[in-house]
Amino acid sequence: MRVMAFAAHPDDELVCAGTLAKYAAKGHKVAIVFITNGEVGSEIYGNEEIARIRKEEARASAAVIGAEFYWLGVRDEFLYTDEPVRRMILDVMRQFDPDIVICPDKDVDYHPDHIAAGQLVWDVRVMTTVPNIKTGHKPCTKIPMVAYQDTVMGLNFMPEKYVDVSDYWDAKAAMTNCHESQKGWLEAQYGVTHLEFVRVHTMFRGFQAGCKYAEAFKFPRFFPMRTESEGLL
Ligand SMILES: [Zn+2]
Repeated sequence: MRVMAFAAHPDDELVCAGTLAKYAAKGHKVAIVFITNGEVGSEIYGNEEIARIRKEEARASAAVIGAEFYWLGVRDEFLYTDEPVRRMILDVMRQFDPDIVICPDKDVDYHPDHIAAGQLVWDVRVMTTVPNIKTGHKPCTKIPMVAYQDTVMGLNFMPEKYVDVSDYWDAKAAMTNCHESQKGWLEAQYGVTHLEFVRVHTMFRGFQAGCKYAEAFKFPRFFPMRTESEGLL
């Protein structure tokens, strides 16, 4: 199984990090695509500096579970579904040829970049196999299944599937701690530590699912539909 997660920002991968860790531990191939460069996420550093720092943090986070790392470098807070970006998403998906793509829920998420990321995946999903749309890589071998990851703190998100990640909390915590620059930022913005922020959400879904830690997913309906639980751990 080839699993590709799309993070609108560096650290958005944490929403599904336990599931990615679980896939990786079971021998599946995992990739994380960071679409924007996170250049606004700091109260200390300027755009270029924080983007450079967050790229290395994202790379380290992916490395914790041995995931392939893709960095598209779109400007943070200005992700749109225009042709250049759509081609970029299409090409990176073709490069990896995923069975499953995990992305934000475009219908209920709060952040415009997350909504755009989910929309972009939606927009290119069928195009991935169409040979007359040329990109730098050859078409995918099949249209990937799409799973929506939870929203931040689960707001507006009604899960259809829970993945028990109790055994992968340590990996998820290690990935969280890679995002060193966001510790101060989250404390300044929301008065909570990054690790507590992630842990409470993962425990909350765990309580719902009857285990210690869990992550939640949904499956958007569109043609051609694949069995919704197909392949998802
Ligand atoms: Zn985000």
